[in-house]
Amino acid sequence: MSRLNHENQRRVRLTIKGRVQGVGFRPAVYRLAVRLGLSGFTRNTSSGVAIEIQGPRTKVNEFIASLNANAPRQALIDSVVTVRVPVRIGDRIFRVASSRRSGDIVAGMPPDLAICDACRREMFDRCDRRYLYPFINCTDCGPRFTIIRALPYDRALTSMERFRMCPECQAEFDSPSNRRFEAQPNACSVCGPRVRLVGGRPGSPAADPFAEAAAMLKSGAILAVKGVGGFHLCCRATDTAAVSRLRARKLRPHKPLAVMFSSMTEIRRHCLVDQAEEEELTSPAAPVIVLRRRPGSVISKSISPDTDDIGAFLPYSPLHAVLLSRVSPLVMTSGNRLDEPMAIDGRGLKAILGPIADAALTHNRDILRRCDDSVIKISGKTRVPIRRSRGYVPAPLRIPVSGQPVLACGAELKNTVCLTRGDLAFVSPHIGDLEDPRNYDYFLASVRDFMELMDVRPRIVACDLHPDYASTRYAMSVPNVRREMVQHHHAHIAACLAENNLRERAIGVALDGTGYGADGHIWGGEIMAVDFEKFERLAHFKEYPMPGGKEAILKPDRMALGILFSECGREALALARRHLPGLTAHEAEALVGMLERGCRCPMTSSAGRSFDAAAALLGLGDDVSYEGRAAVRLQAAADKAERRHYPFEIVEENGMPVISLGRAFKALACRPSCGRNTAAAMFHNTIVVALAEICGMIRAKSGMDLVALSGGVFQNDLLLVKLRAMLERQKFRVCVHRHVPPNDGGVALGQAVVALARNNRL
Ligand code: ZN
Ligand code: ZN
Ligand code: FE
Repeated sequence: MSRLNHENQRRVRLTIKGRVQGVGFRPAVYRLAVRLGLSGFTRNTSSGVAIEIQGPRTKVNEFIASLNANAPRQALIDSVVTVRVPVRIGDRIFRVASSRRSGDIVAGMPPDLAICDACRREMFDRCDRRYLYPFINCTDCGPRFTIIRALPYDRALTSMERFRMCPECQAEFDSPSNRRFEAQPNACSVCGPRVRLVGGRPGSPAADPFAEAAAMLKSGAILAVKGVGGFHLCCRATDTAAVSRLRARKLRPHKPLAVMFSSMTEIRRHCLVDQAEEEELTSPAAPVIVLRRRPGSVISKSISPDTDDIGAFLPYSPLHAVLLSRVSPLVMTSGNRLDEPMAIDGRGLKAILGPIADAALTHNRDILRRCDDSVIKISGKTRVPIRRSRGYVPAPLRIPVSGQPVLACGAELKNTVCLTRGDLAFVSPHIGDLEDPRNYDYFLASVRDFMELMDVRPRIVACDLHPDYASTRYAMSVPNVRREMVQHHHAHIAACLAENNLRERAIGVALDGTGYGADGHIWGGEIMAVDFEKFERLAHFKEYPMPGGKEAILKPDRMALGILFSECGREALALARRHLPGLTAHEAEALVGMLERGCRCPMTSSAGRSFDAAAALLGLGDDVSYEGRAAVRLQAAADKAERRHYPFEIVEENGMPVISLGRAFKALACRPSCGRNTAAAMFHNTIVVALAEICGMIRAKSGMDLVALSGGVFQNDLLLVKLRAMLERQKFRVCVHRHVPPNDGGVALGQAVVALARNNRL
């Protein structure tokens, strides 16, 4: 009998790679094994999870077959290797070996995860011991990246280290069948972090900080709220006076502010939302999704004065969920002044509490790593990432090239950095604009921290071609590494190809504000043949002078004058008088003088500047308080149904096709009867048709039929969707960003890929 039994027994070892640590994978394995009556064990290894199971052959097979379906929602299984091993006689129970994590587990580290349904139910259950406890979490949810001091991911190396678990929490933590088994941030109101309100009504501390915070918000106050990756500044989204106060204090007059809603039901009341958008909103990353305002919504118009959009998100931490259950919807914008890094600690709070916030809802679980909210816009089938940060970082992107570890330092604005290990690329959270020297220290600290956390010691350092970027200067200062300088638009297109796992020569359409060209000019509207190692410029937008240089970025009227002057000479002055009221007659004369002498008028092919100039000619170019504001207003004005376009020319200069929008600009300047909405749409359409034509010319010559679209201008989803559709109608394969942004936040990934490819060839 017993012999027969043994013959029927089987023991199998499974080696699993992927994101299987810190996500409740082993408890899930335990539950499955116990349910099937199998013995054996599971433990974490340096690269994933190992399992051995033993039992009747059919049960063992059932285990293997159903492992995937039983994995926790956050697990990502990359590979499973199964081998038969000798049966161990007498092995009767299934054990979970305690986690002494070690070695290379970075690839398995999950990002911060939004509160899960089970925890939310418990938190709002009056009978639960964690009723309204705002730090509830489990193996499926809770902070990760932002509370980790160092790897391995173990409570002692997180900011939860100072909280000693009470016996009840400890019992959950130790029990493999519990959904809080080894949930490192596990806590309850007895033993865990606490919330308090700072700067509320004078006197004793508020008995219920949430009640008092809600009362203050309802009476129009601005609060700093400590979340997962930093402090937010918040106020009621329906209170225009409060929103205006927040804008005035934060020195942010027009840039859109995100709004947090208590539930999907509430979002639907104020916004139009489709299924794809809902899936993103309710995903564990819980990003901000740019939605369209529902007519009749009472959300203050001033949250986004330039568009009809509402950047919406759901309460992703239990603390937000409790607050929003009392007062909602709330404006939630990063807790900083202007472009400084967001506050994460007491020092940062000091800078905003008082000058901006009336009080702060804070707590004593330290945020060790800053992580801004992620932002995505979805347009039909096109997902446009605007910022990839909380909820996604540090999950790696798999790239179609590998080699020695690389540090890519990114661009100047919207800086991120990228580290590679093998064929995995780790893109850092949003760091910010390095033009502001105060951010440079933060950049240095971020780079060091990210290298240490990811345990990557780069052998190659990649950076932009621009010699004056702070990130380039940093790259030059790193000792004992190979250096690779990567042209800005080459990096944009390489990033787009790489994240789509494509490694073939493509037509790259790079449209953005400024990129330092291989010839020292300011590029910004290039069509190139690109592979990872090199690029060749095949066509570009006509270059126009930028009177006064960089200042024209914030003064689109100047750019418009520069273009009109190039197209019609001194006649531009008369046109400016009529259409560019932002320029005084005196200013216009002075600028034309500069243009005539060609002094302080760098030439640029920038598509971003073209959009600015078109906006200026339609009266939308005043008061540019954030980069690209004029273009945002131009897009918002465009009549989506308009199909016509302006005439344009493709001329040859030095054997290279050049797209001239001169006739379009002249048409805008003499705008006859058609209104602003029609004109704005026709300008968009002109660019679409011109680019499609150029791509057709290139395909006819080269046979390339893959087009990659990148650069900050493609945050304009109207342009992106129209161009994509037109190219696809012409049977091109079109590659767009899905994970990293088309803006400069994606440049670091492209630099890394180019550096890897070049070094592979050596
Ligand atoms: Zn949970
Ligand atoms: Zn406890
Ligand atoms: Fe760029």
